[in-house]
Amino acid sequence: AAQEGFDAEEIAGAIEEAGHGPLPRLAVVGRPNVGKSTLVNRIIGRREAVVQDKPGVTRDRVTYEAEWAGRRFKVVDTGGWEQDVLGLDASVAAQAEYAIEAADAVVFVVDATVGATDTDEAVVKLLRRAGKPVVLCANKVDGQSGEADAAALWSLGLGEPHPISALHGRGTGDMLDAVLAALPEAPAQTFGAAGVGGPRRIALIGRPNVGKSSLLNKVANEERVVVNELAGTTRDPVDELIELGGVTWKFIDTAGIRRRVHLQEGADYYASLRTAAAVEKAEVAVILIDSSESISVQDQRIITMAVDAGRAMVIAFNKWDTLDEERRYYLEREIETELGQIAWAPRVNVSARTGRHMEKLVPAIETALAGWETRIPTGRLNAFLGEIVAAHPHPVRGGKQPRILFGTQAGTKPPRFVLFASGFLEAGYRRFIERRLREEFGFEGTPIHLSVRVRE
Ligand code: GDP
Ligand code: GDP
Repeated sequence: AAQEGFDAEEIAGAIEEAGHGPLPRLAVVGRPNVGKSTLVNRIIGRREAVVQDKPGVTRDRVTYEAEWAGRRFKVVDTGGWEQDVLGLDASVAAQAEYAIEAADAVVFVVDATVGATDTDEAVVKLLRRAGKPVVLCANKVDGQSGEADAAALWSLGLGEPHPISALHGRGTGDMLDAVLAALPEAPAQTFGAAGVGGPRRIALIGRPNVGKSSLLNKVANEERVVVNELAGTTRDPVDELIELGGVTWKFIDTAGIRRRVHLQEGADYYASLRTAAAVEKAEVAVILIDSSESISVQDQRIITMAVDAGRAMVIAFNKWDTLDEERRYYLEREIETELGQIAWAPRVNVSARTGRHMEKLVPAIETALAGWETRIPTGRLNAFLGEIVAAHPHPVRGGKQPRILFGTQAGTKPPRFVLFASGFLEAGYRRFIERRLREEFGFEGTPIHLSVRVRE
C-alpha cells in the first residue's frame, strides 16, 4: 500500500539498500607495478586518486566500496606500499597474506608483458594455501597482440588468465563478471548473534607502542612473548582464543601484535593494511590510545577505520599509571576536542603495566556489542520520530518545511535506519536525529547509519 507518497516497491527497495549486511570482500594482490592500483581505481570507478600518490605520503585507506552489475562488495587494495626492509618477496608476501586473509575472493594481478616472475610464484603458493577463490588477471594486455602473453599465464596453475587492460578498461567487464561468480553473497565470517556462531571476535588495534602487546599479554595472563621472526613467514596461530570474565573471546591477529616487527620504509601502510584486515575480521574493535601522549592523527585514522567499517567500538586509554594531574587535565580537554565524534564509545582507563581496570574491559566490550545489535521495533521508532517532528520540526527552507514521514530500522551490526521524508533533510537536522536516537535508545559503542529517502 502507498504510504504518504512512497509506493511499496520504493519502500522495500530503500530498506533493502539501507539494510545490507556486511559486504563480501575482494582482495587485489600482486607485485609492485603490475597495475593493482590502476585496476582498483577502475573497479571502484573513480575519483579517489590511489595511483601515483606522492612518494612519502602515507596512504592509509585500504578498503573501498564498489558495485558491479548491481552487486556491492568491498575491495581491499594492497597497492599503496613501497618495498621495505624485508626485501621484495617477503614484502609482497606479507602484504598479500593480510589481504588474502581478510578477503572472500582474490584478484591476482600479473603483468602479462613481463610474464610470471619468482615473486609471482611466491604469491601463488600463498593463494594455494589460503584456498580462497582466485581470479587471475593478465594485465597490460592493451591490444590483441598481448593475448598470447596472457595465455602463457596458464602455467601458474590458477586456471584461466583473464587478459585485461586496467589502464584502458579492455576486458575488465568480463573479468568482473568472473569476480562476481567467485565472490560469495556475504563474507565468510558473517556475524553470529550472541551465543551462536562461535566466540565473539575482538580486534585490538592502535598505533605502534600504545601497548597492544602488553595488554594482550596481561589479559591472556601470560609471560610476554617476543617472537623475533620476520613478517610473512609462518604466522600460526594467527588468532587466539582467550577466556575473559568467564567467556571465551577470539582475539584477531594476535600473532601480528606479538611479533612487533617495526619496519621502517612502508611501515605505516603495512600497519594500516594489518589494522584494516583485523577490523574486517572482527565484530568489535578495542582501540588503544597512549594517554601519556597527545592524541595523534594516526590515532584518528585508526578510529575512522573502525567507524567506517561499522564495527562496535571501545576506547581504551592505556598507560594510565603514567598520568600526573596536569597531563590528566590536558588529556580530558583533548578527548573533548579530538574525539567528540565518537563520544558514544565506551571508555576505559587502563594500565597494561599495573593491570588497572582490566576488569572493566569485558563489560565495555559487551556494552558495545549490545548497542551494535540493538533493534528498535518499527512502532516504537515511529512513535519516537512523531514526537521529534512535533517538538523539533525541520527549519523552513525556501517556504517549505521538509518533514520526516516515517522510518524503519533496516539492519543491525551496526544499526541502520532509513527515514522517509517529504523533502531534503539538512545535515544538521540529521545529526540532531542521530543524537536524539542515541539519547532515547542507547546505541552505546556503535556507529549508526542514517539514510534518508525523499519523496519525489
Ligand atoms: P601497482 O604498483 O601494482 O599498484 O601498479 P600501478 O597501478 O601503480 O601501475 C603501475 C604502472 O603500470 C603505472 O604507470 C600504470 O599506469 C601502468 N599500468 C597499469 N595498468 C596498465 C595497463 O593495463 N596497461 C598499461 N600499458 N599500463 C598499465
Ligand atoms: P604495541 O606496539 O602497541 O604492541 O606496544 P607494547 O605493548 O610493545 O608497548 C610499548 C611500550 O609501552 C613498552 O615499553 C611497554 O612496556 C610500555 N607500556 C605498555 N603498556 C603500558 C602501561 O600501561 N603503562 C606503562 N607505563 N607502560 C606501558
